[in-house]
Amino acid sequence: MTNSINKSLYIHIPFCEHLCPYCDFTKLFYLPKFSKPYLESLFKEIDSYKLSDLETIYIGGGTPTSLSDEEFESLLKKVSPLLKIGGEFTCEANVENLTKEKLSLMASYSVNRLSIGIQSTHDERLAEIGRFHSFKKAQEVIQLACEIGFKNINVDLMYGFPNQNIDEVISDVKNIIALNTEHVSIYSLIVSPGTLFFNKNIKEQNSDESRRFYDTILSLMREAGFERYEISNFSKPGYESRHNLVYWHNQEYCGVGLGASGYLNNVRYTNTKSLKKYLQGQYIDEKEELTPQLLEEDYLLTHLRLKDGFSLDEYRELFHVKFDEKYSKLISSLNKNKYAIITPKSFYLTDDGLMIMDAILLDFYKLL
Ligand code: SF4
Repeated sequence: MTNSINKSLYIHIPFCEHLCPYCDFTKLFYLPKFSKPYLESLFKEIDSYKLSDLETIYIGGGTPTSLSDEEFESLLKKVSPLLKIGGEFTCEANVENLTKEKLSLMASYSVNRLSIGIQSTHDERLAEIGRFHSFKKAQEVIQLACEIGFKNINVDLMYGFPNQNIDEVISDVKNIIALNTEHVSIYSLIVSPGTLFFNKNIKEQNSDESRRFYDTILSLMREAGFERYEISNFSKPGYESRHNLVYWHNQEYCGVGLGASGYLNNVRYTNTKSLKKYLQGQYIDEKEELTPQLLEEDYLLTHLRLKDGFSLDEYRELFHVKFDEKYSKLISSLNKNKYAIITPKSFYLTDDGLMIMDAILLDFYKLL
């Protein structure tokens, strides 16, 4: 991996002040005895790549804002010079530790996009899912961020909680719209093995209920002027996440930090999830060189999430095959059932198709 990289960088900060019972990300309790050596090792890993003039930088986690102000500033100081002028620099934050000091540090080190985990606008629900903020606090933090000058803010919302009814979903979406942010990510609760929710036998919503909730969410968001440009992401015009579009366009990027993954020089890699190994500089755990078949699978997996799907010309250039000919039978069946649309230039899934994207992908994979 010696070529210089000037596209995108993902940085994983695994620390959190509390561990949420539904979370299956790579995360650790924040403790200074771990965070200090972690940042030292992270900086060495960053230096091991030739990074410059990056179009996008994304600091995610975990909770980047759980770092102390001093640690947080050292991280921003390290990566900010790698961003090109006009680049997008996003930092994730939790409401409970997004202080005025952290916001000011971000503004002075060129962070120009915030992604804030709100998850619910109902305080009882927030307590139930192990979040330690109130919706009022979330409103105050967004107000403060706007006063400091942030003009590109994403908020995360979840739905599909146990015993949630449609009225709660409607009021969540309306409350989120009233925050007037530029971008909203909306995810349904997934109960993954190994989480506390899984051990407590908490069940995900059934698919009919989930569909009813999602249809309501879609129409409320569209009425408010948001476009769903990706299966779970809504933006006002011109505020799509440039960094995430790199993933969804299946383009290469560098990922650093505990458990982070990256895609460089036709190789997908995943970093170790062991803090011990990471601190010893044993960063990469797994590497996979992409065969033409894996590349095609990944291309479909990423592009079908997008409202615009993909260009048929690009598909032919990349895979030396005409998509509409190779998959003609499947395409006409999807088209007949209103799950997908093919035009002379592109192929994309409809709202109905996006709801069953996993099944559609499997049908394509069988024909690869
Ligand atoms: S704050 Fe985020 S990363 Fe940390 S435990 Fe909760 S959901 Fe997971």
